[in-house]
Amino acid sequence: MTDNRTHRVAVIGAAGRMGATVCRAVDAASDLALVGRYDLGDDLGDLGGAEVVVEFSVPSASLANVVACVERGVHVVVGTTGWDEAKLSALRATVADHPGVGVLIAPNFAVGALLMMRFAREAARFYESVEVIELHHPGKVDAPSGTAARTAALVAAARVDAGLPPVPDATTHDPGGARGASVDGIPVHAVRLRGLVAHQEVLFGTEGEALTIRHDSFDRISFMPGVLHGIRGVAAHPGVTVGLESYLGLD
Ligand code: NAD
Repeated sequence: MTDNRTHRVAVIGAAGRMGATVCRAVDAASDLALVGRYDLGDDLGDLGGAEVVVEFSVPSASLANVVACVERGVHVVVGTTGWDEAKLSALRATVADHPGVGVLIAPNFAVGALLMMRFAREAARFYESVEVIELHHPGKVDAPSGTAARTAALVAAARVDAGLPPVPDATTHDPGGARGASVDGIPVHAVRLRGLVAHQEVLFGTEGEALTIRHDSFDRISFMPGVLHGIRGVAAHPGVTVGLESYLGLD
């Protein structure tokens, strides 16, 4: 029934962990109607007449899925991670040909994770050292997480603005990569552990003091308020927006 509901919503990646959770959340929201569920191999057709698609698939498929929606004039809320500059510019080119269409790409829909990133950006200029540790379930295919990469980029930019030098690190011998990945000069470590969902710590240190900012998503339900906020807001944000922050006034 779509009669007195405002937004008709379809989900791509609907058989996945996040997609299935989104389907349940949309079904439970009185102002939303779930009009389509699509997964690998399905013909998207007219997307069930959806006005908004929520896309949670795999990094290798997301661009093609989102482009298909935009070409049908449908707004898209994207949770799939792995969006680099090349994919974003390809998407922006398509969206430019469909000026009324909005695409929200949110590496993390958990409000607490967005606050963690904001607090980390604020703390960055006060500390000599910083490292990011992200911890996820072992089914996650990409590392580091989009949130960890974004946190590191924000912290790195804040350090540059504050005129801080590179983080101190005397390591000269690390054949196994024990010091983790380097994202804009910030060490980022990825843990994959059965039982976890999505967690992150940002560790700051200076002489005689340390600060740890930690966020935990214990359940995929933690992402749903952000996803629903994105669904309700995406039509009012034409073009490509990266990060839910601007929708929440956290920019
Ligand atoms: P999952 O493996 O459980 O689900 C992915 C689904 O996508 C599967 O059902 C798979 O069959 C489907 N799929 C694969 N290729 C497809 C294609 N070409 N077209 C349509 N569907 C296709 O993974 P998940 O845990 O649900 O995570 C999905 C994505 O969401 C990952 O990139 C993950 O990192 C990301 N994620 C983002 C957030 C966020 O807040 N933005 C939170 C959690 C997970």
